[in-house]
Amino acid sequence: MKTGEIKMETSVLETIIGGSRLGIMGGTFDPIHYGHLVAAETARIELKLDKVLFIPTGTPPHKIYRQVTDAHLRHEMVEMAINSNRNFKVSGLEIEREGPTYTIDTLRILHDIFPEQELFFITGTDALRELLTWRHPEEIIKLARIVGASRPGYDSRNLLTKINRRYPFTKDRISELEVPALAISSTDIRTRVKNNKSIRYLLPDEIRLFIKDNKLYQNK
Ligand code: NAP
Repeated sequence: MKTGEIKMETSVLETIIGGSRLGIMGGTFDPIHYGHLVAAETARIELKLDKVLFIPTGTPPHKIYRQVTDAHLRHEMVEMAINSNRNFKVSGLEIEREGPTYTIDTLRILHDIFPEQELFFITGTDALRELLTWRHPEEIIKLARIVGASRPGYDSRNLLTKINRRYPFTKDRISELEVPALAISSTDIRTRVKNNKSIRYLLPDEIRLFIKDNKLYQNK
């Protein structure tokens, strides 16, 4: 994202965000589904968040070699999915940024804009397995509390204990949120589309039709 665009995005964010606890929902959202929406709503209620800001990734550093749907299409799907919830917002902060998008850069920007807000970075527990290999993990964990949304049956206690033991600075800064609806997964949805299987009821119907109209995930 260029400087002018960051300023514009910043002013958009400033007008929409209030309160003292801000959830940041980080993900590729390829596509967004009910599991993500329930995870965000569960986090909002359990962690008493004022708002949850969805930030679709631009070029995820760990997916340089995997084909990811165009960021603007993923952003549009998120926008449609959260449209009816005034507590959910979406930001294009990452999608216009050139090169790989690192979480630390996003958190630094958000911390500058909202210095008084406590930030909660919410993402899949699977993604957090690699957290300590991300750029500047220590600073990430200082800037935001980390929340791992886990699928049913996924026990992340070992992972969290291991991280806490090895890196004492992470103590009390990383937590788990079990979200039964995360039995739904973007990978499964993409595979279903590819194999001509139904994705009805796994995600909002508008998104299902958007996927169909834009012929997403069809290539064999
Ligand atoms: P991923 O590897 O695609 O996802 C890993 C798992 O977590 C998948 O099972 C995924 O399920 C789930 N997941 C992802 N986001 C979720 C969310 N917000 N809520 C619930 N489950 C979620 O991970 P990703 O989506 O690309 O990246 C996750 C976040 O980590 C992004 O914000 C990304 O920028 C950040 N990240 C940063 C770095 C770095 O700074 N170096 C490196 C890697 C990731 P679905 O497939 O169903 O979503």
